Amino acid sequence: MSYKGRFAPSPTGPLHFGSLVTATASYLEARSRGGRWIVRMEDLDRPRCQPGAAEEILRALAVYGFVMDEPVLYQSTRDEAYAAAIRQLGDLVYPCACSRRDVCRCAEGLPPGRPARSLKIRGGDFVLRRADGLYAYQLAVVVDDAFQGITDIVRGEDLLDSTPGQVYLHRALGFPVPRYVHVPLVRDASGDKLSKQTLAPPLPFDDPAPVLRRALEFLGQQPPELPLGDLWRWAISAWDLRRLPHGTDRDSGLC
Ligand code: GLU
Repeated sequence: MSYKGRFAPSPTGPLHFGSLVTATASYLEARSRGGRWIVRMEDLDRPRCQPGAAEEILRALAVYGFVMDEPVLYQSTRDEAYAAAIRQLGDLVYPCACSRRDVCRCAEGLPPGRPARSLKIRGGDFVLRRADGLYAYQLAVVVDDAFQGITDIVRGEDLLDSTPGQVYLHRALGFPVPRYVHVPLVRDASGDKLSKQTLAPPLPFDDPAPVLRRALEFLGQQPPELPLGDLWRWAISAWDLRRLPHGTDRDSGLC
């Protein structure tokens, strides 16, 4: 199967340097293998999404020179597909009455007198549909990666813990399991992941090439000083995943 990769931001705020690093790694891994690359907007958790953030993210990707091969898929339009996947899982799905703090034994049956809140999957025991009725990230990401024919996932190492559950779901749904690469996170001076929650500054729009160069350097590449288009051409031909830095405690010193 030919390579197809993706970048799947959640529109909870603008893109920051950490998201640029992840997007760049997934893009270069796809392009250097002659593969396709798409963007999926993970606007599943409606209460956490910020108005205008999706448009802002897409504008930033365009300014930084990313080219996508398909129109953006919005998870907010996909509830029917997630419901169908839950139906397909059949008896593997069980209702759960617990909150996060409870020790859950609902896989053996709901405790008497306690109404169901969420839906979980047997074996993995993670949530597929949340107590607030929203479909969970774990389910949506698997259904959409399969629907979009994603063969290779390159994303931040903060999602490493989610990967076994996702592989389990791919198998349970009869989908081919993609390959996964997890890239190191960009951290701030106190060692926290750069994120919208820690108010990482948005990517500047005025001069993208030097920022992209720093992202490439963070990814262990040795980019020359070039204008944006030439920098991408250089990066696609020189990209080497083996140069990624190892370990989780790297401080980019950039923020
Ligand atoms: N939407 C997720 C995030 O922004 C990424 C999901 C993924 O790459 O699997 O953290």
